[in-house]
Amino acid sequence: MSIKVQEVSKRYGKQKALDNVSFEIHEGQVVGFLGPNGAGKSTMMKIITGYIPQSSGIVELNGINIEENSLEVRKQIGYLPEHNPLYLEMYVKEYLDYVASIYKLGKIRKNRIAEMIDLTGLGLEQNKKIASLSKGYRQRVGIAQALLHDPKVLILDEPTTGLDPNQLIEIRKLIQDIGKEKTVMLSTHIMQEVEACCQRVLIVNKGKLVADKNIEFLSSNIESKFISVEFDTEVSLAQLEQIKCLDEVTYLGENKYNFLSNKDIRKEIFNFAVANQFVILEMKSQNKNLEDIFHELTS
Ligand code: ADP
Ligand code: MG
Repeated sequence: MSIKVQEVSKRYGKQKALDNVSFEIHEGQVVGFLGPNGAGKSTMMKIITGYIPQSSGIVELNGINIEENSLEVRKQIGYLPEHNPLYLEMYVKEYLDYVASIYKLGKIRKNRIAEMIDLTGLGLEQNKKIASLSKGYRQRVGIAQALLHDPKVLILDEPTTGLDPNQLIEIRKLIQDIGKEKTVMLSTHIMQEVEACCQRVLIVNKGKLVADKNIEFLSSNIESKFISVEFDTEVSLAQLEQIKCLDEVTYLGENKYNFLSNKDIRKEIFNFAVANQFVILEMKSQNKNLEDIFHELTS
């Protein structure tokens, strides 16, 4: 089940929340949708799930236009909205039963609910009121309701916001498991999450798509390197700029410097230090990571 977004824009009154965004997600991919607050992530997800209409452009799910066949498309999509709205007064199982009735699951209803309770690890909580659950368990209820009708596509809007570190690991693992069988798009502003769960990342900023990259490409095929160096004394930037093949050098304080180059210039830095009688206390090279790329594209 693929998602195709073509030249989609969305206006709220005068404000343009999405500006001519296009991308395609192929079946079975887990894609991270990354961007600062207000970038337009939730707006895009509400459009893909048919909750609000776009102002212009086309969205297709497996070739089916979502505006023309809204109900058909919704049967194929599971959606965990931002802030995970739940009926707090309902009991976990009662709530899932209610959702199952909306999706008209019929005979398979009982089985599916039991399966989802099992998958999301809600066994001990199933007879509790949602209001009494911790945030991590509420998140599991949200994911269980999104999966109940066995959709092919799962749209998760910031599924891990507000979780503690242990809950975070558990929910990420659950998303990875689900991603083996389904097309998943998840929004987040946490870079490590994308690196942990996704094969691909789409970055939006101010309503525009600014990057569309494979995670493998990011980690293996980086052109630029950072080299951080600590000297035994402060060195003037003018002097450091004489180093060959250097693109940029920044002073970080406490005799520490960051060198940026598209070559590995550790030898050049070493030779410079020897020639000028500086002592290098520490030298580390580091590829640019997703976080660096995110800052470059969105700040
Ligand atoms: P994100 O999920 O990336 O934080 P949103 O899609 O929620 O971003 O919002 C994108 C922009 O659209 C923001 O500037 C937000 O204030 C605005 N916006 C979102 N929903 C509405 C709305 N219902 N009415 C007016 N403006 C909205
Ligand atoms: Mg949002």
